Amino acid sequence: MQNWKDSILNDRERLTPDSKFKYSCHKGLFCFGRCCGDVNIFLTPYDVLRMKKVLGISSEEFLGKYTLPLILQDQQIPVALLKMGDDENKKCPFVTAEGCVIYTDRPWACRMYPLGLASSVAEAESEAFCFIADDESLCMGFKEDKEWTVKEWLTDQGVDIYNQKSQAYMQFTLNKSFQEGSELEPAKVQMFYKTCYNLDTFRTHLFSSSFFERFDIDEATIEGLKTDDEALLDFGIKWLRFSLFAENTLKVKDDVWDKKRNELGIITE
Ligand code: SF4
Ligand code: SF4
Repeated sequence: MQNWKDSILNDRERLTPDSKFKYSCHKGLFCFGRCCGDVNIFLTPYDVLRMKKVLGISSEEFLGKYTLPLILQDQQIPVALLKMGDDENKKCPFVTAEGCVIYTDRPWACRMYPLGLASSVAEAESEAFCFIADDESLCMGFKEDKEWTVKEWLTDQGVDIYNQKSQAYMQFTLNKSFQEGSELEPAKVQMFYKTCYNLDTFRTHLFSSSFFERFDIDEATIEGLKTDDEALLDFGIKWLRFSLFAENTLKVKDDVWDKKRNELGIITE
């Protein structure tokens, strides 16, 4: 029996940016709110950044109250899953009779809906493609007259902007180590999760440690990191690339290297 991933790759129509579909979701449809429950929504770090901000709470509080930490089996990547309610319909904590209370800052997956995105590493020159993600007979939105191309939908819903803001993170997760599903040590998984998802704690760690004494970071960047969450997320990715994969994304100060060489008794010419 094929799993859900295979069934998407094998059975779903692969939409192109110009493919058309009819769809409109609005209050008054009898299914209104149906899809905002009992669903797996994996949050990106940028989703968490937006959601905790609009709710006016810290990333620590947001993660504790609204998410479950998980590790993606294939790639061994830590992610935050949006926690659904304990009620019979397992409702999303943000759905009300009026719709989504954080609509302007809803996660990437909710913006995509009713489209899904899939790709296969097994297929040569595989490209990600969109597909219709729901059962069209259950979603009344497909019976409405409003017509979209896939491209129009993604722009209208702000998916393009979310993709841009998540570019550094997505690029990082394409590292060979994740693509091959190599397991990171638990401490490194923690570091990955905290840096990407728990931005306020990451900021506290940066500014309460000797980090900026050890790395060559200009003053303007340091000032920006104090208040700008998006800059902090991109900086965090650079830090992870440096610390997990020894990439050249940050520079250690010369005097720190000199001290280390002296401690180790390494003589340089
Ligand atoms: S099932 Fe479809 S039409 Fe109904 S609320 Fe969900 S997305 Fe909208
Ligand atoms: S975040 Fe908003 S749009 Fe997404 S599932 Fe929850 S209520 Fe629905």
